[in-house]
Amino acid sequence: MSFKTQNPATGEILEHYSSLSSEEIEHALALGADAVPIWSNTPINSRCTRVERLAEILRVRKDELAGLITLEMGKLFSEAQGEIEKCAAACDYYAENGEAQLEDEMIESDASRSLITYQPLGTILAVMPWNFPFWQLIRAAVPALIAGNTVVMKHASNVPQCALAIDAIFREAGFAEGIFVNLMIESSQVEAVIRDPRIHGVTLTGSGPAGRSVAATAGSVLKKSLLELGGSDPFIVLEDADIELAVQHATMGRFLNCGQSCIAAKRFIVVEAIADQFIDQFKAVVGALQAGDPLDSTTTLAPMAREDLRDELHQQVESSVALGAKIVTGGEIIERSGYYYAATIIDHVSVGQPAWSEELFGPVASIIRVKDEREAVAVANESEFGLGGVIFSGDSERGERLARQLESGAAFVNGMVKSDPRLPFGGIKQSGYGRELSYLGIREFVNIKTLWIR
Ligand code: NAP
Repeated sequence: MSFKTQNPATGEILEHYSSLSSEEIEHALALGADAVPIWSNTPINSRCTRVERLAEILRVRKDELAGLITLEMGKLFSEAQGEIEKCAAACDYYAENGEAQLEDEMIESDASRSLITYQPLGTILAVMPWNFPFWQLIRAAVPALIAGNTVVMKHASNVPQCALAIDAIFREAGFAEGIFVNLMIESSQVEAVIRDPRIHGVTLTGSGPAGRSVAATAGSVLKKSLLELGGSDPFIVLEDADIELAVQHATMGRFLNCGQSCIAAKRFIVVEAIADQFIDQFKAVVGALQAGDPLDSTTTLAPMAREDLRDELHQQVESSVALGAKIVTGGEIIERSGYYYAATIIDHVSVGQPAWSEELFGPVASIIRVKDEREAVAVANESEFGLGGVIFSGDSERGERLARQLESGAAFVNGMVKSDPRLPFGGIKQSGYGRELSYLGIREFVNIKTLWIR
């Protein structure tokens, strides 16, 4: 099979690449394994220096790399530039803090000296999605590399040029062959790679079905797995909320990256008393989003990444409407070349509709009306997902009390959910397990080893 670069803004196929043969996979895995003893014995400050260099390269080549993201998955160019800057900032964070986060920890016990030490596991496979093609990889790979592991990347098949560019910048930053390996393979080839004895752990960011498949294989050979999966984050607006602020964050939180973000606000759970006011203001802003060329700085609505994903989203909207949801704005495929979908709000979303229970991965905001805070939290938690959640309230103590009740890996009060290298990121329930970012993320793919010495 071949991978292709297809411009989502036009539908044009630009490049084809072939997936690796079994001999080429064998060679790549051998490179990764051979690099383990060299890299794990490289002093951690030298590993951090290379990550610093990676940050510099990302900054210098920001526009070129951002252009590739826009070309392959359609993100607005300004957002793609932001993605590259965010990658550089995460590199800075781990280059500055990684060594301290992995320092030995002395623990008092009956030994003369006892301590916890963090040692690398070996080679980690990173299976990555297309929606933030640089960011997802950087946040998974950089901490694992600083910890002394080597990393083998299987990127999503619709972003092969991003994958090649990522591989090239690691090389340019001084990561010798084998420390970071780009494995251009299909998803059907992943299972054999996980089973290979030279792979010691796997991290996947992607959909539930992919996560379940990878975790089942990893479990069958008892290898550590980390899963960052989908979400259907609630965004609760209470009657005492600052509506203008809520609308501003609702718009960013739902329509950034054309709605194709795991932590996008997806279910807007609004208290009935202010629902009409919130919807009117939200509609005014969302209805004004302008579809266009993602490279054009005046465009505010990008295309979706792929035709099949756009069509699936439209199906979910149409089924929800057939089951009682009402379109406030949008709800249709935009008639132009490329994979555009109108910025959409649907109201009266209720039990039984896809918009209630499924992840809508695109520019569609679902409104669920509730009578009070109690019902709002109950509805928020009535989801198989548990990634993030938001509460908007004029009373931040009330917001915090309710945020603690959300079944999610993160809960934000009066702000949209976002990732930050200083704070852990991850989900519960069907949104996955394990944490990326912060000091917790760098300790996922390590042997937390006890030393007891008399
Ligand atoms: P996807 O279809 O699951 O693909 C993700 C990666 O997994 C790709 O590299 C894909 O390869 C691979 N893959 C797919 N099926 C596989 C299988 N059975 N075995 C092994 N690998 C497999 O997801 P996506 O459409 O790219 O991304 C969208 C989903 O990711 C959404 O649900 C979103 O919420 C979630 N996501 C979660 C987070 C998070 O941090 N929690 C972040 C971003 C996205 P191919 O491309 O070759 O199929």
